[in-house]
Amino acid sequence: MEPAAVPAELISRIRPLKGLILDVDGVLTDGRVIIDDAGRESKHFDVRDGHGLKLLQRTGIRVALLTGRVSRVVEHRARELGIDLVFQRIRDKLAAYERIRELTGFRDGEICYIGDDLVDVPVLARAGFAVTVADGSAHLAPYVHWRSAYPGGHGAVRELCELIMAAQGTWTDVTSRYLPRPRP
Ligand SMILES: [Mg+2]
Repeated sequence: MEPAAVPAELISRIRPLKGLILDVDGVLTDGRVIIDDAGRESKHFDVRDGHGLKLLQRTGIRVALLTGRVSRVVEHRARELGIDLVFQRIRDKLAAYERIRELTGFRDGEICYIGDDLVDVPVLARAGFAVTVADGSAHLAPYVHWRSAYPGGHGAVRELCELIMAAQGTWTDVTSRYLPRPRP
C-alpha cells in the first residue's frame, strides 16, 4: 500500500495524540458478520492492520477498542494485538469514551477516534483527531478531520497507524528493524 502523506493542516492535530480508540465492525472489519448454524460469530481481520496497531503501540500510543456488539472473536483479536482496553456491548459510545478518558487521563486533544457509522458521531465530535474509513457513512463528513483511502477491514487502520507515526516522527525508528538504511 502507498504510505499515507501527512496533510500539513493535520500535523498539529496528530502530534499531541497519546491514544487511539477504534470502532470494530466496519473499521477493523469490513462490517460483515458471519454467523454459523450454532450461532457462533466470525469476522475477518486484516493482518496488516494488526501489524500497524502493534507498531503504533511500540511508539507508546495506547490503543482501545469500542464496539456496540459483543463477540469472543473481538476478545481474541484484542489479546493477539496486546490491546487491554476493550469495551464491548456499548450502547452509549460517548459514555464509554469518557470512561476511557478517565482510565487513561488523556484529554480530548490527545485522542484519535476512528468509526464508520452514525453511532460513532458523538465520539467523533469530541475526539481531537476524528477519522472515518473510505467506505464510512457519508453523514460523518462534517465530523471528521480525515477519511482513509482504504476501506474498513482492508487497510484503513494500517493507513491511519502509518499516518500517525509519520506525523509524530516515530515511523523511521519503529520500522528500522525491517527497513535498514539504504546502502551507500
Ligand atoms: Mg462500525
